[in-house]
Amino acid sequence: MKQRTSGFLDDIIFPGGNTKAFTMSYDDGTVHDRRFIELLNRYHIKATFNLNSGFFGLERKNQSGPFPDLDISVVDEAEVPLLYAGHEIAGHGLTHASPTGVGTAHLLYETIEDRANLERITGKMVRGYAYPFGQYNEKVKQVLRDAGYHYARVVDTTGKFDIPQDFMEWKGTAHHNDEKLLSLAEDFCGNGGFGFMKKLFYVWGHSYEFEKDGTWEKIEELLQFMDAHREGIWFATNIEIVDYVNAFRALEYGAEGEMVYNPTAFAVSFRRGFNNIYTVRPGETLVLS
Ligand SMILES: [Zn+2]
Repeated sequence: MKQRTSGFLDDIIFPGGNTKAFTMSYDDGTVHDRRFIELLNRYHIKATFNLNSGFFGLERKNQSGPFPDLDISVVDEAEVPLLYAGHEIAGHGLTHASPTGVGTAHLLYETIEDRANLERITGKMVRGYAYPFGQYNEKVKQVLRDAGYHYARVVDTTGKFDIPQDFMEWKGTAHHNDEKLLSLAEDFCGNGGFGFMKKLFYVWGHSYEFEKDGTWEKIEELLQFMDAHREGIWFATNIEIVDYVNAFRALEYGAEGEMVYNPTAFAVSFRRGFNNIYTVRPGETLVLS
């Protein structure tokens, strides 16, 4: 029998040889996305935008509601493809209906119709989603899977840098108003602590909050910081992360762990031990010695 000297653990390595990933997720598609996207593009940071296609072009200026003086009008359909170019567009329900508060048929309509609209408008497939009001349960998750969504973001956050086990209940690291936001960024980008525990830094919110709370400079500070510390970090949209992690999780192993088969369409990299990094190409079986 072959003499063993240690066990093994394969650690995901993101595209480009990066050990960490950063992503952002913003909801509701209000006109403040325009200014926010300018900032994102200036600092070369990718985000996912969760849109209600039933509300495009809706003027919601000075209406009564939680923020009576805030303009929460929605972007126009015609500007969507160019405005969000380079970022991901994901579903957020046709009219932001509560996923747990409407019947199954209505929920299916809200999700499918939104998805069809967004795909027609952008010419791209829409496979991501954020739960309106953060509301979900097991039945809602199944409806979303049936509607063709491959992940769904909730509103709860973890304060951590883990990759979620269940992408249909994807908790971010922090909302951008988290008082620890910048210290989380410093921790994530820094070399202290256990590097293998720092996988994914995920920030979410609504761009109208920057206007409401006067925090445009604060979010720019975060983007600037992340841009300045981009070495070793993969800047990706939500769906890019899901697809890559799912490919990593789909790797198949021989019984002794030394043969690794990649049945996916993505080249997948992983680290085994301290310094050995391997890449398995699509369809390839790698034999590690
Ligand atoms: Zn929303």
